[in-house]
Amino acid sequence: MRLSIYNTLKRKKEIFEPLNPPHVGMYVCGPTVYGDAHLGHARSALTFDLVFRYLKFLGYKVRYVRNITDVGHLENDADEGEDKIAKKARLEQLEPMEIVKYFTDRYHANMDALNIQHPSIEPTASGHIIEQIEMVKTIFDKGYAYEAEGSVYFDVDKYSQDYDYGKLSGRKVEELLENTRELAGQEEKKNSFDFALWKKADERHIMQWKSPWSKGFPGWHMECSAMSKKYLGETFDIHGGGMDLLFPHHESEIAQSNAAQGKDAVRYWMHNNMITVNGQKMGKSLNNFITLNEFFSGKHEALQQAYSPMTIRFFLLQAHYRSTLDFSNEALQAAEKGMNKLFAAYDLIEKLPDTKSSSVDIAKYRDLCLKAMSDDFNSPVLIAHLFDLVKVINQVNDKKETLSKDDIVTLKQIFDDFLITILGIKSEKSTDNTQVVDYLMQTILDIRQNAKTNKDWATADKIRNDLNKLNIQVKDTKDGASWSFR
Ligand code: ZN
Repeated sequence: MRLSIYNTLKRKKEIFEPLNPPHVGMYVCGPTVYGDAHLGHARSALTFDLVFRYLKFLGYKVRYVRNITDVGHLENDADEGEDKIAKKARLEQLEPMEIVKYFTDRYHANMDALNIQHPSIEPTASGHIIEQIEMVKTIFDKGYAYEAEGSVYFDVDKYSQDYDYGKLSGRKVEELLENTRELAGQEEKKNSFDFALWKKADERHIMQWKSPWSKGFPGWHMECSAMSKKYLGETFDIHGGGMDLLFPHHESEIAQSNAAQGKDAVRYWMHNNMITVNGQKMGKSLNNFITLNEFFSGKHEALQQAYSPMTIRFFLLQAHYRSTLDFSNEALQAAEKGMNKLFAAYDLIEKLPDTKSSSVDIAKYRDLCLKAMSDDFNSPVLIAHLFDLVKVINQVNDKKETLSKDDIVTLKQIFDDFLITILGIKSEKSTDNTQVVDYLMQTILDIRQNAKTNKDWATADKIRNDLNKLNIQVKDTKDGASWSFR
């Protein structure tokens, strides 16, 4: 079954063919770390976690780069206003890097709670200033940038004579010209839609570096072009991010890459849609956002209860990544119920009675699940198939349908592959550490008991002695062994 991906640039689904199979290069725009992550951050990270997991499941070797923006992202997402991190640092009377460390740690903790796998590389903008300066120089030398008062701007007008500016977002230069009014502080630009590649820093700006043009810092769009090129090469397979990054961020990335290297860097552009609250986009600027920590604790006036990380994960996966998803307590509570139903059925599989023959075609479901995921990562359709299997499990349990031993094994494998490995939903019951230790200890003691039964005294002794080193005492009793911490 071939994987199809909706390519935002082409505005259609395309069969996915990586440049250098089995290797896949994927770059995703990560957070600007000046505040706690909210549901929108989770949706973007989760969308590409699903892509990452499914590509690996299909056998691809994925190098997944997700950046951390720690400098250069200005307040209005363009070239004006204060640096978001520098502003937070000023308000909190901290070093910008203290803000970066604090919120990066909290972002990682949130992502771990959501069972989002770590990217292969997580580069920071401040760690790649040299690479960014080099790329600005190249764009400058090729004539697509100009210097003004120590800052360097991308010359959109010049670029659009040679390339198609606006091809990702569908915006036209002429329309931009009509729609943008001159903003204060933009006089040094030739055109209001030109964007900064390098900004001269004023004295207040703590994070600044030497460059051929001024002491300053890179423009926000520069980091992703420079870092994706460094780690994935001039051309790579997938670039992802939230729909809100389409313009100006990703449009600018395309322009920068073409200006610097004469060709597109990205083969498949993927964008996840937004979370809405009563139909309005959830976001910091609208002041209707709820952070993940607030969801996990239930401490927010819009929340009726706390929601576990897996409930949030399951809720997000119930919508296709390209659809908007409206937040409500009812929807989250339904997600929680649905997920519990799936796990109850999953726990039942190994206890199902088997018969000689099956009355249900289980292999068909495996194909359906693969088909759903291979159709542009359609997680809601996949989840619907899993719920159909829940019905099958309950009917077999009630002896209304029958399954052979082999089909029960296949059924278990479908849940292990699609629910646990690909959707990344894990049972929250077993995440309690004491339970995990109890379970592991029981497994180890069972292995030791087997060794003793087989008169393999060396293995039995090794297990007891190794556990001793961990201050775990094993006591042999009449009916097996027990253990305790000393
Ligand atoms: Zn980016």
